[in-house]
Amino acid sequence: MGTVSLVTGGNRGIGRETVRRLAGRGHTVLLTARSQDAAEAAAADLVSAAEPGEILPLRLDVTDAASIERAAATVAERHGRLDVLVNNAAIAYDTWQRPSGADLDVVREAAETNLYGPWRIIQTFAPLLRASAHPRIVNVSSEAASLASMGAGTPAYAVTKAGLNALTVMFAAEFRRDGMLVNAVCPGWVATDMGGAGGRPVGEGAASVVRAATLPDDGPTGGFFRDGRPLPW
Ligand code: NAP
Repeated sequence: MGTVSLVTGGNRGIGRETVRRLAGRGHTVLLTARSQDAAEAAAADLVSAAEPGEILPLRLDVTDAASIERAAATVAERHGRLDVLVNNAAIAYDTWQRPSGADLDVVREAAETNLYGPWRIIQTFAPLLRASAHPRIVNVSSEAASLASMGAGTPAYAVTKAGLNALTVMFAAEFRRDGMLVNAVCPGWVATDMGGAGGRPVGEGAASVVRAATLPDDGPTGGFFRDGRPLPW
């Protein structure tokens, strides 16, 4: 069996392009989305681009523990392991807010998707990742989370992605002895529904994600990268 990869939020944007590229490299890719219909529609759209790999649709809402458990049970039953986990799904690029007036309900909602979601997914899929000979976790983050250059903009997004970066360092440390490479990636400003018009093409953003998903065994862990180059935390 070839490499088995799972991408959250795989139905559109950078996640969808990451699915397409991993399948193009021969991976069996679980294209997950928060609704089964969205996963199936995106997988059907990509089917001709899937060669030489395979794209399998699967429901996974990152804010729903039961849905994460069910997805992990399906992966266990069908594949017995997971080689690559890409935590891509995210929400709330809150350009309209500043920290002093931020709606904390928006911040909490962002945390459910951008931080607690990936956290729970890693916890739940850890046994399947440990069953892989070359496990990789990619947390899709953003330079907006870099403390080194952080301003007052997009507080819900920046704080929750900074939490995701911290989680990346912690899981990398915990899983180092399992040979698991855990990294955070900024795709750059990308022209998607979230990024809006004017950003780089989606393929350029997804390339950074794919690079971290396909690192060799002696590749880095616990790092933060864009286009393969380290970013300051
Ligand atoms: P996007 O076009 O808005 O797509 C977001 C994806 O996340 C969609 O598939 C969405 O599914 C999914 N999602 C949201 N909540 C979910 C949930 N609860 N469960 C499962 N899936 C969920 O965003 P994008 O631009 O492709 O961004 C992808 C990643 O890159 C994100 O982590 C983002 O923070 C990061 N990033 C993007 C940029 C940029 O300029 N675009 C820059 C830096 C970092 P639905 O279709 O169901 O909503």
